[in-house]
Amino acid sequence: MSKFWSPRVRELTPYVPGEQPRERLIKLNTNENPYPPAPGVGAVLREFRTDHLRLYPDPESRALREALALEFGVEAEQVFVGNGSDEVLALAFQAFFCQEKPLEMPEITYSFYPVYCRLYGIERRALPLTASHEVDLNAFSAGSGGAIFANPNAPTGHGHGRDAIEALLGRVTESVVLVDEAYVDFGGESATSLVARFPNLLVTGTFSKSRSLAGLRLGYAVGSRELIEGLNRVKDSFNSYPIDSLASAVAIAALEDREHFEACREKVITTRERTRGRLEKLGFEVLPSRTNFVLVSHPEHDAAQLFVGLRERGILVRHFNTEALRDYLRITIGTEDEMDSLMEALEAICR
Ligand code: PMP
Repeated sequence: MSKFWSPRVRELTPYVPGEQPRERLIKLNTNENPYPPAPGVGAVLREFRTDHLRLYPDPESRALREALALEFGVEAEQVFVGNGSDEVLALAFQAFFCQEKPLEMPEITYSFYPVYCRLYGIERRALPLTASHEVDLNAFSAGSGGAIFANPNAPTGHGHGRDAIEALLGRVTESVVLVDEAYVDFGGESATSLVARFPNLLVTGTFSKSRSLAGLRLGYAVGSRELIEGLNRVKDSFNSYPIDSLASAVAIAALEDREHFEACREKVITTRERTRGRLEKLGFEVLPSRTNFVLVSHPEHDAAQLFVGLRERGILVRHFNTEALRDYLRITIGTEDEMDSLMEALEAICR
């Protein structure tokens, strides 16, 4: 604690991301993609002219925004890019959620949202999940200061269909509804096609998961021109160069390789379903998932102890030490070989 910190910073509990271990572990704790990025990414890196780095990048990231606009069937003016979707989310909180009324979000969702609320002094209203661990879209109220949730949700894995999101948007019209689609490519349904009809809908996405580029830090938002302009206002006030030139070139190469993208996500989905069956055979309860992770619990084994047992066997998964999630482990879907090692370790521990 320092006397130089402003009062808000003194009260801040920073978000602690999953561990990035130094030793070689099977890493199933931060939902990275186990497969490499598209081959075109390597070509871009090899051929990139270092002289480009001498110059500031395009402040509008036009080429990348155009590539994303093509991907989502919108105009480039409806796309915003940032340094990871975490940054895009931070800018959205500042641009749209610093309101008199509380921001509504599920009680269990991406744990960064409450961190941003504390950082920006936003009051939060947490909405309980349904009995089947789904985000309760009916619980969002029309008169709030905004709504945010991940779809599919993290760390629960359940995803609502587009119709359900559309019904929510039919009710909540006076504030921004932010749908975080970090995991949508692993079996979810994207709401990006709804932005043409709902000016208060902002959809965020990332290159970190289905595009295998977590190390690059690249995220985006798709929405009405009005919302994108709001994000630009906040961004330009402190950093008018969101994306560096190299990241932009790499991201465009990743977007262009649809075949690689499809093949990787199919592999992850197949491995996820296979892993679910194997875990259930061992007595685990596995929540249905439309993401690249599963949230699991075991009626006879303590999750914290399972975490330690796996760590000792060289496998890192995620255990959240919160009241609501204490009984669960979140396991990222790795390669088939990695999941074989996971199952072998769990069989040894649960025996
Ligand atoms: N949203 C959700 C729901 C996430 O789980 C994550 C990854 N931890 C992010 C956003 C942020 O992803 P990134 O900053 O890597 O784009």
